Amino acid sequence: MSETLSSRARVYSPDYIITPPALYAWPPSLLGAVRYLLFDMLFPWGYLYAIMAIIGWHFLTPSLETMSEWSWGWVGLIWLRNAGLLTLVAGGLYWWLYIRKSQGTQYKFDKRWMATDDSQFLWRNQVKDNMFWSLVSGVTIWTLYESVTLWFYASGRQPVLSLAEHPGAFMLSIYGVFFWSTATFYFIHRALHWRPLYRLAHELHHRNVNIGPWSGISMHPIEHAIYFAPFMLWWFVPCDPIIILLTGFFQGISPAVSHCGFDFLKNGDKKWVTAGDYFHQLHHQYFHVNYGNTPTPFDKLFDSWHDGTESGKELLKGRMRHRRRQVG
Ligand SMILES: [Zn+2]
Ligand SMILES: [Zn+2]
Repeated sequence: MSETLSSRARVYSPDYIITPPALYAWPPSLLGAVRYLLFDMLFPWGYLYAIMAIIGWHFLTPSLETMSEWSWGWVGLIWLRNAGLLTLVAGGLYWWLYIRKSQGTQYKFDKRWMATDDSQFLWRNQVKDNMFWSLVSGVTIWTLYESVTLWFYASGRQPVLSLAEHPGAFMLSIYGVFFWSTATFYFIHRALHWRPLYRLAHELHHRNVNIGPWSGISMHPIEHAIYFAPFMLWWFVPCDPIIILLTGFFQGISPAVSHCGFDFLKNGDKKWVTAGDYFHQLHHQYFHVNYGNTPTPFDKLFDSWHDGTESGKELLKGRMRHRRRQVG
């Protein structure tokens, strides 16, 4: 896979086409679907979030007994854990890719670095702005959703479906997190592009045309309140508390990786592991395409799928003409 520069000189254009997962192939491909579910969709990041959720539950979460009574003390501890883990992942990627510049601009979507003198960002500094919205608003609203959900379970309002007693349900709910989060994201995100809501809230996330690890959950508090709402599934569907943590890590930490700004991470001279989400990068670049995520390809269904090629650009032009007609 070679890296070339497009006519705009600063934009990454890989020589692969973004296609919907084999899970949706027609006629169905059993082998392709299994391979996608076990490897393409989860390796390595999905497995990492699941491991973080198991470790986080056993070592970095107050006991169910403590959480059976609402107290801002244990909620504060969960905030510290979430802020710490986000800083570890987003800050780690930022240090490796943007401070140490370990792989220069190789596999970087946008050849520019983060803005350091731009009036649309707080303190005219993109990274400081992104850290502020992520930590002050993002982690706080994420922690509130997570704590209320954990409290429902700890206080007996919702039955615990433990991993030890229901391993099958546990596995299903792991996939439930990924499919539920990405499916709801499409519809939430479409709503955020409704002009009044866009101007009020979502515009803040889109200031980041050139994205970095801290841009992932750099959003307006109104967007955070909607974006983290998928936690509410577990108010109605019983699960193991580990799944509640996984929902938080997938919603709160995975955007640091998907927005890291680099398609792949390198190890020495070799491509090491997939990182940034080129599909979502195209949304930051062109706005009116790729509202969802590839595991639940609603963009294909609703004709807003940009596959990263010239034909994707034609689709975009058609959509823009349609929008202008609507507005006019
Ligand atoms: Zn958007
Ligand atoms: Zn984004």
